[in-house]
Amino acid sequence: MAIATISPTTGKTLRTFDVLSSQELERKLQRAADTFRSYRETSFADRARWMRRAAEILEVEADRFGRMMTEEMGKPLEAAKAESIKSATACRYYVTRAEKLLRDTPIDVDGDTAFVRYQPLGPVLAIMPWNFPFWQVVRFAAPALMAGNVGLLKHASNVPQCALALEEIFRTAGFPEGAFQSLFIETSEVNRVIEDPRVKAVTLTGSEGAGRAVGAAAGRAIKKVVLELGGSDPFIVMPSADLDKAVHTAVSARLINNGQSCIAAKRFIVADPIAQEFERRFVERMKTMVVGDPMDPKTDVGPLATPGILEGLHAQVQESVKAGTRLLLGGKPQGGPGNFYPPTVLADPPPKAPAFHDELFGPVATLLRARDLEHAIELANATPFGLGASVWTQDANEQRRFIDGIDAGMVFVNALVASDARLPFGGVKHSGHGRELADLGIREFVNAKTVRIT
Ligand code: NDP
Repeated sequence: MAIATISPTTGKTLRTFDVLSSQELERKLQRAADTFRSYRETSFADRARWMRRAAEILEVEADRFGRMMTEEMGKPLEAAKAESIKSATACRYYVTRAEKLLRDTPIDVDGDTAFVRYQPLGPVLAIMPWNFPFWQVVRFAAPALMAGNVGLLKHASNVPQCALALEEIFRTAGFPEGAFQSLFIETSEVNRVIEDPRVKAVTLTGSEGAGRAVGAAAGRAIKKVVLELGGSDPFIVMPSADLDKAVHTAVSARLINNGQSCIAAKRFIVADPIAQEFERRFVERMKTMVVGDPMDPKTDVGPLATPGILEGLHAQVQESVKAGTRLLLGGKPQGGPGNFYPPTVLADPPPKAPAFHDELFGPVATLLRARDLEHAIELANATPFGLGASVWTQDANEQRRFIDGIDAGMVFVNALVASDARLPFGGVKHSGHGRELADLGIREFVNAKTVRIT
């Protein structure tokens, strides 16, 4: 894919960028390795000062960065500005906590001195997606840089201006030249970078296919890898739930980021006694959502990021309907310029339908009915994914059973699944492995060195 800004709203190519030559890539890799040698010796206080400044830039320039994100990948402008500000929270979280989280952990062994010391690994390659072009990158970069690693960003090829802006933010904030560099490379070059001995670890947020490829390359090179992949997340509503709140949250959960979020609720599993009422209210609300220009403050749902995402989504909808799924709303691209797809509701897909088990990356919701709690858990677990689940019930026993029974990296009760710098984030099954954010996130890219002194 060419590295370019192509407006998802108009389809026009606005800017193109050259990929790095072999020599330029070599220079950047060497600069990362050279920078790491001195950067790892910097104090937490220095890193914290630079990271605090990065947070300030993200906040002060949220409008500029927001417009950039909206122009490149089509999310509504207010959400894009909020993303820049949210990214600052991850910086600030690690400004105040990194040193404490990476302090030696003492261990009591027969009176000897023993502890675990956490040391940085070196240059870490981050392969990142377009859907949250700032947040996904910063949630990797903030802990990695605070731990003393240096970052190499291979961003998605449709958000090059965001990639450059992120590089500029860390440089302007005071981080040494080479502490955070953006690499404009094709995916075919990624394996070479993973294999390069100067690169010590890899993190990827993206599709299952990219996860398999990057995980395999990291495995061959025996390098640590964190994979944050897709989800087909359940949103379960039981009879005791506050139905009004559940419906409102369900619609927001499905349409967040024009439906293109790994943790967006995708399958709405509703207990039989309230299923009909939920369906009625859910479809009504989805109908009221405004599709349009993401720069317009009235817009709820902007265009999908690329024509490829739109085609893939529509094929999944068509195949699901052909397999016997009921179509309650929407169901075909809007036509005209831009990658617009209307809010769509599917119901009762048979197990062979893509809507039953696959990730639908766009504003398409799938409704399923559950006979009882155990059936709801069975349906929730009937996909290859396991990222975040949202369950709605006031009953404490039901809450306990869901928390234990759902195969997911995250379970939120009576709330929208959302990332937060204070909470570990990640999945199980085909949603990937490893954790980002919080204490677990900063411990992913360090050597936990055991020391025993007798
Ligand atoms: P991809 O997984 O293809 O892209 C994510 C990142 O991985 C990009 O930087 C991409 O680079 C890179 N990449 C892709 N393939 C490889 C590879 N073989 N080796 C190394 N790097 C690779 O996502 P898409 O944009 O194609 O979206 C497709 C689907 O992925 C979506 O429909 C959705 O299901 C899922 N997805 C999930 C996300 C999440 O948050 N978990 C985020 C984005 C997508 P390049 O752009 O140059 O291809």
